Amino acid sequence: MSLDDFPRYPLLFGPSPVHPLDRLSDHLGGARVWAKREDCNSGLAFGGNKTRKLEYLVADALARGADTLVTIGGVQSNHTRQVAAAAAKAGLKAVLVQESWVDWPDPVNDKVGNILLSRIMGADVRLVQAGFGIGFKESWQQALDDVRAAGGTPYAIPAGASDHPLGGLGFAGWAEEVRRQEEELGVFFDTIVVCSVTGSTQAGMIAGFAGQDRPRRVVGIDASAKPAETRAQVEKIARATAELIGLGRDLRDDEITLLEGWAGDLYGVPVRSTVDAIRLTGRLEGVILDPVYEGKSMAGLVDLVRGGEIPRDSTVLYAHLGGQPALNAYSGVFR
Ligand code: PLP
Repeated sequence: MSLDDFPRYPLLFGPSPVHPLDRLSDHLGGARVWAKREDCNSGLAFGGNKTRKLEYLVADALARGADTLVTIGGVQSNHTRQVAAAAAKAGLKAVLVQESWVDWPDPVNDKVGNILLSRIMGADVRLVQAGFGIGFKESWQQALDDVRAAGGTPYAIPAGASDHPLGGLGFAGWAEEVRRQEEELGVFFDTIVVCSVTGSTQAGMIAGFAGQDRPRRVVGIDASAKPAETRAQVEKIARATAELIGLGRDLRDDEITLLEGWAGDLYGVPVRSTVDAIRLTGRLEGVILDPVYEGKSMAGLVDLVRGGEIPRDSTVLYAHLGGQPALNAYSGVFR
């Protein structure tokens, strides 16, 4: 099978915008940096990387006769907010298990941003006490059982829509989208920088780019603060996705790169380099990043470009994966 054989329920505007970050590039004084904007990819609840993945999962849910999407994430999960939006658009119900993955003291953490948007969209939002983890959870099983007990047909979507057979397809498609946009723009991105936590964004990119003629580096920046787990997930999903879309060869180990050093000690807690990167990108480009994911991957990009680990003659594509609604729970960081 190839990617085109998988049914897709349209949730995106079309290809997400690609544009240069000239003032940031000039400031860093090294490689030229561009951005591809998953934060502007859809009209559904501010979009983001999950919306692209969910095109495939929602099509599957509808084909299976499901009436309720059931998923899990942290209290300020961008993923659960995008599931709520996709469900609304497709005429499905959504049950969202929101665990306390981040011990974040802001008094409005469970009231504003992503969780507020999910409530507005009519999702059944359930706050649950449980720590950070991207694996299978009892609370999620309970939610699935509850839907069945009420006579519904649930469709289970794991954290980040990642550990799911179709989880890598959205960003395998992104890789092909990049190739077409490069042709139109007359540019080649030899290096992609992407934030990784549950893994299927980077994994899908790796599988998608592996089928193209011209090699390039996909540099994952860990924001989970559990890089061994995230790397294992990226590797597993990349290999499974490559097989699913008929790559026809095994991925090499050197095609899977996850760098650590910018996550701090805890998922969801910004560190100095995160806040500096958010302020820098905001001040120089008017582009807004979040403190959980994109601020951390941009901090990585800044250091890699400044330090020359990404060479001066490179052209870098920064995957902006969305996530700004969470900023509402982090106002204390920017006083
Ligand atoms: N960036 C944002 C804004 C996210 O919401 C997520 C979700 O976890 C990520 C990056 C990481 O993507 P993934 O979980 O597919 O590794």
